[in-house]
Amino acid sequence: MVGILALQGGFEAHARIIRSLGAEPREVRVPADLEGLDALILPGGESTVMTLGVEREGLAEPLRALAGDGMPVLGTCAGMIMLDRDHLGVLDIRTSRNAFGRQLHSFEADLELDGLGEPLHAVFIRAPWVAEHGPEVEVLARVGEHPVAIRQGNVLAVAFHPELAGEPRLHELLLGLNGS
Ligand code: GLN
Repeated sequence: MVGILALQGGFEAHARIIRSLGAEPREVRVPADLEGLDALILPGGESTVMTLGVEREGLAEPLRALAGDGMPVLGTCAGMIMLDRDHLGVLDIRTSRNAFGRQLHSFEADLELDGLGEPLHAVFIRAPWVAEHGPEVEVLARVGEHPVAIRQGNVLAVAFHPELAGEPRLHELLLGLNGS
């Protein structure tokens, strides 16, 4: 069972990809929805709004605890921001929001991700990048010099939207990570 934080943002496209891989998605809105999950996805959206929802529903503590226990997690775009030092504090990264600026409000790129083979089609929408990271963070892909895909233990975070390009390989990777 794969939980997808569904307070706000693009959770449905993730659910479709999870189903297409033969796993079952569950929308997460309250702490009880986190019970019995094998993996968790934090989707894109608006990190300020998502933060308010997470606080309102009392989800911050249980989300942190699950990630700390080694649950496989995938954060995309605003989901990456939610995982950083200034939000849930799951990843040892600092993100810069809307980092590509006005000119590059939205763009698409083919990215080579370490370990994933063929380049991956990535859709960036008002995307962040990783401005700073600690030594445990592995950078999987960059745009220019800026990390846009990273991994720390069982937590994957990407600045773009693989789900909007119908790209299943990151979700596949998530399902293959071993929880504890
Ligand atoms: N710009 C949004 C934020 O700062 C993220 C955009 C997205 O998730 N596509 O939260």
